[in-house]
Amino acid sequence: MALGRDWAESWLRATAATVAEHRSELVRLDREIGDGDHGENLDRGFTAVIAKLDSVAADATPADLLKLAATTLISTVGGAAGPLYGTAYLRGSTAIAGESTLDGAAVVAFLTAARDGIVARGKAEPGDKTMIDAWTPAVDAAVAANGEGRSEVEILAAAADAAEAGALATEPLVAHKGRASYLGERAIGHRDPGAESSALILRAAAETAAESSSGT
Ligand code: ADP
Ligand code: MG
Repeated sequence: MALGRDWAESWLRATAATVAEHRSELVRLDREIGDGDHGENLDRGFTAVIAKLDSVAADATPADLLKLAATTLISTVGGAAGPLYGTAYLRGSTAIAGESTLDGAAVVAFLTAARDGIVARGKAEPGDKTMIDAWTPAVDAAVAANGEGRSEVEILAAAADAAEAGALATEPLVAHKGRASYLGERAIGHRDPGAESSALILRAAAETAAESSSGT
């Protein structure tokens, strides 16, 4: 089953819920190698997104909802993550503009454009210990799953699995971007908070896709 407006709304609501649930964990990760505000920043941002969802028109497209998330995150999150996630949702929504439901190719187009937006904004490369280390393996896994003809649900599940592995793999790295880069080797042994939140966001995408396709 293709993913439509209802899925986009469910995804944003589930993202707000998982960010709230993991808020203190994200704060702890950011306290270890940053300034400790990542959980609060995202919780504030996604709470603001949710507050706007009720006013969205019934005939809105997934892109309309994800663009609303983008502009809301840019104006409410602050820090490094606000503009980065805002750009991700903005570029991602542009890539699927006008489509009422998303097939596998559209899911891949969204994820690729979102990742490319983060790179365009933050100039991080894989291995720099940033959210890109979750997004790039996620995009690669999504492209591969789509190439094998897998369903949208399976494509998002593959992306979420790869993002989680990518977030875990930031632990031994030295950071080359953002506040954590000031720490040099002291960042080793700590997971990047933005990579962790990216994995949470993509897991929420996969779980809500599975729920909407099973009709629950
Ligand atoms: P701040 O660092 O301003 O306090 P946050 O704590 O909200 O902002 O977000 C920190 C996260 O932002 C990092 O864990 C990292 O994943 C991500 N980040 C920081 N700089 C960059 C960058 N240049 N490119 C990609 N991601 C980045
Ligand atoms: Mg921070």
